[in-house]
Amino acid sequence: MNPLRSAIQWRALPIGGDAASSYALHIGEAGESGPLALITAGIHGDEGPWGAASIHRLLDETPREDLRGRLRIVPAANPNALAHEARCAPLDSLDLNRLFPGDAAGSHSERLAALITAEALADVDHLIDLHGGGSWCVNQFMHQAEGETRLSTSFGAPFVSRMPDHPGMLANCARSQGAQVTGTEIGGRGRREGEFIAQVTAGLRRALGRIGVLSSLPEEDAPPPAQLIEEMQVLRPLRGGILQPALGAEAVGTTVPRGTLLGELLHPATFATLERFEAPYPTTALLLLRPHLTALEAGAMTYVLGRAPDA
Ligand SMILES: [Zn+2]
Repeated sequence: MNPLRSAIQWRALPIGGDAASSYALHIGEAGESGPLALITAGIHGDEGPWGAASIHRLLDETPREDLRGRLRIVPAANPNALAHEARCAPLDSLDLNRLFPGDAAGSHSERLAALITAEALADVDHLIDLHGGGSWCVNQFMHQAEGETRLSTSFGAPFVSRMPDHPGMLANCARSQGAQVTGTEIGGRGRREGEFIAQVTAGLRRALGRIGVLSSLPEEDAPPPAQLIEEMQVLRPLRGGILQPALGAEAVGTTVPRGTLLGELLHPATFATLERFEAPYPTTALLLLRPHLTALEAGAMTYVLGRAPDA
């Protein structure tokens, strides 16, 4: 098999703006005509390797002859953040996903946003922005934009939530240009990471088939429909401590009844229980959780929970 990888042409564009080093943005492109899809990964650097791995698995497992349209990929969208396994680039500590369309005369992340807007986002018909899990949590849901279902239901995530409307998000910038968008929140470090990467790879393949960038797949093999989550909440500790999880990575993407213990915050020295995290809804969807024993700062995102339709 001649894989899709063989069709990819790479460009390396200097981001500029930092005196001591020279990070470059790598953009890959394949196809001559037809609908154009952009896949981005690592906008948040601590979520980067898992999305990139899914893109590269797609390139290796898809025959080149399946290409019908145009594909553009940015597997390492925030190189300085990726290098430090951090959400934001240490060069200026700005959240790249709040800066679009960017500023070519701004600081590092603002320049990067402007470069992505000009060189990657231009003319795209569809955007799939890969986030998820990463170094400190696991998650299992999709962001669904108003009026969009084909992309967001391709990934087999059990839950979908409304696309957030934060100013400066890449997805909202793409929507303002007329593109259809979706965002994954799937994956995370740990024993299940291979399974999550396979899930995202399969989702990319199905989504690109549905929009005519790759040959389409039989719909009878499509994943089951997701549940729409209308009401969500984030649990954060009131003070710092050590999180002792009661639920592991196997629980993400499932539901638990109200009152189920999710984890406890312990005093770092005495291990006295400082706080208990419990499921708040009659049927609580576990969208994001921290599966590992870990130190937490006050206010750290610890659980993202949704009200699921009652069973
Ligand atoms: Zn993210």
